[in-house]
Amino acid sequence: MRNTKSKTDKKFAFKKMSRKKKYCRFCAKNIDYIDYKDVELLQNFLTDRSKMRTRNSSGNCAKHQRKISNAIKNARVMALLPFVSE
Ligand SMILES: [Zn+2]
Repeated sequence: MRNTKSKTDKKFAFKKMSRKKKYCRFCAKNIDYIDYKDVELLQNFLTDRSKMRTRNSSGNCAKHQRKISNAIKNARVMALLPFVSE
């Protein structure tokens, strides 16, 4: 009984791990500059409450995540994106 249970647990864990591979979409397209005026693009990296998505959920690399976060902050100051929304 105990043996079969641990076996299925292992199988499940493997399935979860190998579900989807994340990649940085900017590296894939060779984009180096992220425009803060491109609101539609930046909104992909915000939650529905206008918080920034983490690198884990957006799949960006460190370099591009930094650029995204700078662009979002810039857009917020220019009133293109909200700081908070309900
Ligand atoms: Zn990247």
